Amino acid sequence: MTLSIELEEALARILAALPAPLRETVSLTEANGRFVLEPVVSPIHLPPFDNSAMDGYAVRAQDVQAAKANSPVRLRLVGRVVAGQVFPNEVGPGACVRLFTGSPIPKGADSVVMQEDTRTEPDKPGEILVLDAVRPWENVRFRGEDARLGSTLLSQGQGLTAGSLSLLAAAGVQQVVVGRQPRIGLISTGSELRESGQPLEPGQIYESNRIGLAALMRNAGGRPAIFPLVTDTLEATERAITKAFQECDFVVTTGGASVGELDFIRSAFSNLGGEIDFWKVAMKPGRPFLFGRLNNRLLFGLPGNPVSALVTFLLLVRPAMLRAQGAKELELATTIGVLAEETSNPGPRRHFARVIMDGQGKVSLSGSQASHLLGSFAAANGLLDMPPKSSLPAGHPVRVLRWDI
Ligand code: AMP
Ligand code: MG
Repeated sequence: MTLSIELEEALARILAALPAPLRETVSLTEANGRFVLEPVVSPIHLPPFDNSAMDGYAVRAQDVQAAKANSPVRLRLVGRVVAGQVFPNEVGPGACVRLFTGSPIPKGADSVVMQEDTRTEPDKPGEILVLDAVRPWENVRFRGEDARLGSTLLSQGQGLTAGSLSLLAAAGVQQVVVGRQPRIGLISTGSELRESGQPLEPGQIYESNRIGLAALMRNAGGRPAIFPLVTDTLEATERAITKAFQECDFVVTTGGASVGELDFIRSAFSNLGGEIDFWKVAMKPGRPFLFGRLNNRLLFGLPGNPVSALVTFLLLVRPAMLRAQGAKELELATTIGVLAEETSNPGPRRHFARVIMDGQGKVSLSGSQASHLLGSFAAANGLLDMPPKSSLPAGHPVRVLRWDI
């Protein structure tokens, strides 16, 4: 029970314990940041019809093959189709139709001469001089070119983003089936903790974990519910956990998960019938990390040290939250950079070091790495996964885990 497990094993156990995502149908306007639980197929061809990529004239390419600036080809102007209308007839030999970007290509025409390659004569309004040849289908945007009717627009587990929402809207999709966003109770324990705005008595500190964790939760689609601070007694801890479990899908606690006699998360959770799956993860910051189940709901007991809480959230709770919403991709984004200086982890535990990657891809530690130091977390934009007792020279390529992109 007290042996540390590897991060990967911890994550595998957490994911295995998750219940299936709950379904919810939402309109596109509410769907940003959600994940589709089933593939979305296109109900139409997109674009729905061949149309013009330019303001210009629909022609038959063979009619203007010989067109040159110094020997233009003269065509009869037989109609005008603004975007949103359809030309009722067929374009015959020697004829052309005025089109605008998005106008349907009239029957009989096979290409569009752009307006810049034409000329008109004031005394001949019914004729157009074409100054350049076009290839068949030049300047034509094809029916179904973006998506074919019945083709997959989004596969299961993909996220809804500005891009994918625009695609679905263009295809006429109105609603999507997505995973429900879990409500996550957030409890901080510690008799030394005070709410901001209150004066600090000697020995007290301002509580900071809930605000940072709530921000990370929201960024990953969770709906945090912030509970009042909990003093370090078994009864208060039991009461707080009970209440949070009544109202939330997951409960995240911080503090009180270690080995001190005032660390009550484990005992309170067990007393309530909670089943502890594991308690320690072999990483720094954040070794005490408790994961357990109570009536199909999950408890994540994060360490109290602020940086440990934020880092373990990113590596172990965030993926669970995403999976609970039906997401396929659970990992933090990574970017590749090079070390600005020699960087080592002399310790016996795997270290997720706080780093800054600058615009040129140079990566350096963002400051001192002790797990109570928020300044170096606030300055960081990534984490560097350093194996135990390792050292990398300046210039070494590294993969940086990001939570800000
Ligand atoms: P614990 O895990 O409860 O032993 O707490 C470890 C360290 O983190 C102690 O210095 C606590 O004062 C500090 N700490 C615990 N919870 C919080 C919190 N919510 N906000 C700020 N600091 C905290
Ligand atoms: Mg404590």
